Amino acid sequence: NSLDDTINKEQLLFGINQGAIYNDIRIEHAKIISELDLPGYAVGGLAVGESHEQMYDVLDNVVPYLPQNKPTYLMGVGTPANILEAVERGVDFFDCVYPSRNGRHGHVYTNHGKLNLFNQKFEKDMRPIEEGCGCPACRTYSRAYIRHLLKAKEMLGMRLCVLHNLYFYNTMMEEIRDALDAGMFATYKKNKLASMEAGEE
Ligand SMILES: [Zn+2]
Repeated sequence: NSLDDTINKEQLLFGINQGAIYNDIRIEHAKIISELDLPGYAVGGLAVGESHEQMYDVLDNVVPYLPQNKPTYLMGVGTPANILEAVERGVDFFDCVYPSRNGRHGHVYTNHGKLNLFNQKFEKDMRPIEEGCGCPACRTYSRAYIRHLLKAKEMLGMRLCVLHNLYFYNTMMEEIRDALDAGMFATYKKNKLASMEAGEE
């Protein structure tokens, strides 16, 4: 960033913690990269096929060894539940293909669980993907119409599902920040998970 010809002088260099599911190796590595005093730190090498419990166990063990005053990034994660569990363990931000890739397959996230809009039961369902959602898909189109677009392989169907999912994830992150600021994260997380697990009706 100090070079004259650097295009973006706001770039951040992150230290990426590795070590598979071996906490001793990960902790040793976390200590070494922490000494480099980098702008941020990430936990890598997770969300690659290990169980959710193994991932949470690594976070429980490793995040305490990363600098608390620097942003902590969990790479490639994840489901809404994964994000809530990781935030509880000290993670600040994430990246993941789920909202877009699942959206392209007609799978949409709601506060009452994930829906597969290809299912027959949505054929004449005139409700939006989620009541009260402010996204462009929910403000204008019904589940039935989006299902029709998906079935007809019309690209707009995929686009509307991706729009909704990105809106859902962004809204959830906003809610998480607000809950943390209010000191209500534990309650928020419990209610959100219960609602998503309960499903519709
Ligand atoms: Zn929506």
